[in-house]
Amino acid sequence: MKQYDYLIVGSGLMGAAFAHLAHGAGKRCLVIDRRQELGGNIRCERVEGINVHKYGAHIFHTSNERVWRLVNDLVPFNRFTNSPLAISEGRLYNLPFNMNTFHQMWGVTTPAEARAMVERQRSEALQRMRAEGATEPRNLEEQALLLVGHDIYHTLIKGYTEKQWGRPCQSLPAFIIKRLPVRFVYDNNYFTDSFQGIPRGGYNLLISALLEGVETRTATDFLADRAALSALAEKVIYTGPLDEYFHYTLGHLNYRSLRFEHEVLQEANHQGNAVINYTDSSVPFTRIIEHKHFEMSPQEVEQTPMTVITREYPSEWTEGTEPYYPVNDERNNSLAAQYLELAKREPATIFAGRLAEYRYYDMAPVIEKAFSLAAAEGLGDH
Ligand code: FAD
Ligand code: UDP
Repeated sequence: MKQYDYLIVGSGLMGAAFAHLAHGAGKRCLVIDRRQELGGNIRCERVEGINVHKYGAHIFHTSNERVWRLVNDLVPFNRFTNSPLAISEGRLYNLPFNMNTFHQMWGVTTPAEARAMVERQRSEALQRMRAEGATEPRNLEEQALLLVGHDIYHTLIKGYTEKQWGRPCQSLPAFIIKRLPVRFVYDNNYFTDSFQGIPRGGYNLLISALLEGVETRTATDFLADRAALSALAEKVIYTGPLDEYFHYTLGHLNYRSLRFEHEVLQEANHQGNAVINYTDSSVPFTRIIEHKHFEMSPQEVEQTPMTVITREYPSEWTEGTEPYYPVNDERNNSLAAQYLELAKREPATIFAGRLAEYRYYDMAPVIEKAFSLAAAEGLGDH
């Protein structure tokens, strides 16, 4: 018998959530990570008493009661309602696209006026598409024009998206923008889910709670010592990059990377909101995060003298940088599908998570995935 039932490669939310369920079902687990610290991209660093989301702002949101219960049983969550703003040419707009945005953009005050503006611009886009013989939006630009029309597309979407993805909107898949809600009420709540929040005390507490009682090793790269590490366990749960696992034999998958520029400021309140997007192409970063707003009340914000902000600069992924977002265009999707075929031929390895499945996953769906993996592995009632 081997020493462990599961070797879990990666201590991000995917690895940690699966380890929690497997350990709870009495399985012997070893979690390894090549970083110095556990937690993957939800890891925070405490600076001046503020939890800094050092790999990008993370807001947990779900309508799945079971997922919400699991995380809240481990660490109680606050109610943080994500209401980002966007800035273009010095003017602020509320997101997601709602009556506040339409008022700021066009001066309209009623839903009927706003609908009329959006409809007029939508139908112009639709006519153009039809004249070219298209029945469905063929790319992100067309999807955006059909969703909100020309003005919002050019002020709030085009520049931001092209910075974010490093490609013209015309060559990006439409689905990226389908996530953005459009509504004709005055409501700046970005998410439509029933539950949203941040763990009280930060995400590191969630990771520690998920991994409580589980053996872990940091600074341990699976791929550098694959044979010996695999030999320790009956099965491997691999949450690292899919193409790297196969030594890039079919070619490299593309990722978008990010560079985070953190800055500590001697002021209580820098921008008055957790997230402000910079949508103009002339500004090199996409957003500024002010971390204290995630966990502090407005009074606490004013009573603490320092703040920490992060500017987020998107960049192309190159070897040695962190892969953050899979680029789900046709080339990459088809290459990922070929790698996933190879993965099926590895019966003792399960590929799970954002990098190993090469798909965009929010945190709650990652936990749902852990539930379904646990069920497939026969680990208790999942
Ligand atoms: P990761 O967190 O990337 O963990 C993978 C781990 O595997 C890493 O720690 C890595 O070091 C380790 N690893 C890789 N290869 C090896 C190896 N060979 N050996 C050992 N270890 C290895 N989701 C939300 O729900 N809300 C948000 O607001 C949100 N914001 C986001 C913002 C940004 C900028 C990004 C990039 C993502 C955001 N997400 C958000 C998504 C969220 O980060 C993911 O759902 C989640 O982190 C996925 O967890 P994971 O374990 O699959 O991947
Ligand atoms: N987006 C945009 N302008 C904004 C915010 C978002 O055009 O001010 C688009 C952009 O294409 C982005 C997508 O919406 O890639 C999803 O953005 P969101 O912030 O929801 O997701 P994330 O950046 O966290 O992946």
